[in-house]
Amino acid sequence: MSRIAYVNGRYLPHSDAAIHIEDRGFQFADGVYEVCEVRDGLIIDLTRHLDRLDRSLRELRMASPMAREPLKLVIREVLRRNRVRNGLFYLQVTRGVARRDHYFPAAGTLPTLTITAKSVDPQPARARYETGIKVITVPENRWDRVDIKTVGLLPNVLVKQQAKDAGAQDAIFVDAAGKVTEAASSNVWIVSADGMLVTRPAEHGILRGVTRTTVLDVAASLSVPVEEREFTVEEMLAAREVFLTSATGSCVPVVAVDGRTIANGHPGSVAAALRGAFLHIAEKTPI
Ligand code: PLP
Repeated sequence: MSRIAYVNGRYLPHSDAAIHIEDRGFQFADGVYEVCEVRDGLIIDLTRHLDRLDRSLRELRMASPMAREPLKLVIREVLRRNRVRNGLFYLQVTRGVARRDHYFPAAGTLPTLTITAKSVDPQPARARYETGIKVITVPENRWDRVDIKTVGLLPNVLVKQQAKDAGAQDAIFVDAAGKVTEAASSNVWIVSADGMLVTRPAEHGILRGVTRTTVLDVAASLSVPVEEREFTVEEMLAAREVFLTSATGSCVPVVAVDGRTIANGHPGSVAAALRGAFLHIAEKTPI
């Protein structure tokens, strides 16, 4: 079956789907995106993802390509046409096509909207939950507005590759004060030595992950005590558990940081419990 992509009002074979070379996303990374998981034919946390998309657009003074309800119809149509039961959709909005110039294009320039979808085999993710992953820490070197989900991901790309080259799977950014911000494409959590679930507040220095927000709800439902506060690399190394959350990864246990083993080197029970209860709490929208 060939994949189908949505590009500005048209459903196209994936191999023919293209945007103009003067699209602002291509020229300036002047665009925002969302990635949303699909599990067993259900879209996970769609409302929160679309709310964050609206926020990203507002923060960048970018026009919305489409109202919420028609956008949901298009998303579901892309998923149906690609027969996705387990996988994801990727949605990107850019400031549109205009002659290259740093100033915003003329009012009325149509934003570009592209949506793709793909099936993902759930098996490798399950294996990662069993084994956990290794990460490295890297100095935070991104801009100040990482709270906006923009397609400008070059620092994230570089540290992810650096992790791979070092024999690890992911990288965690650490700010100038020695505090953990977030990973290259996920939020970071620890279970502290005294049993608190700790994650950095989303006000500054991180993207407010949709999974992060829902995991906070899951923790409340399980009566797991939570503290939203900054934490250092040293505290992370001494933690009972470290794990990462993202829409495509749920809660992924981290078993080594910079070559140092976390706790007993095995995935912990809190991450597993949160993962186990996640789907009961998350919003589920049928395709
Ligand atoms: N932080 C960064 C930098 C990300 O790129 C992502 C997801 O792509 C996240 C956190 C997690 O966000 P979400 O849970 O909404 O997928």
